Amino acid sequence: MIKPIVKDVLFLGEKSELATKDDMCVVNDLIDTLKANLDNCVGMAANMIGMKKRIIVFAVGSAIVPMINPVILKKEKAYLTEESCLSLTGVRETRRYETIQVEYYDKNFNKKKDEFTGFVAQIIQHEVDHCDGIII
Ligand SMILES: [Zn+2]
Repeated sequence: MIKPIVKDVLFLGEKSELATKDDMCVVNDLIDTLKANLDNCVGMAANMIGMKKRIIVFAVGSAIVPMINPVILKKEKAYLTEESCLSLTGVRETRRYETIQVEYYDKNFNKKKDEFTGFVAQIIQHEVDHCDGIII
């Protein structure tokens, strides 16, 4: 189900809690809501639709990838860039890392560990920050 986007920075500043198998509906709502906003947005975290669970989704080409309880294990090669956010107005400078290693559960709750680089790595860092209550 497509949900409205939360823009309340106090709510967005709170940490999300670990997701469980009972939160699959949140995963599906997040996928639906990202699909509806793909013109303006390449990734979303669950608190952006009002659910304080550690779930993110992002677009890679035409696929939408969900990650449940993502943890960034390693970050390499810092750089400064500018980002925007569907929950905020304007563009802000932020520090990201070129290469990251992420541990997460996929939508079947299988544990995965993968390395990401470049733009996809940047989206994941932005969305994992949302889970920690950090906005750009
Ligand atoms: Zn954002």
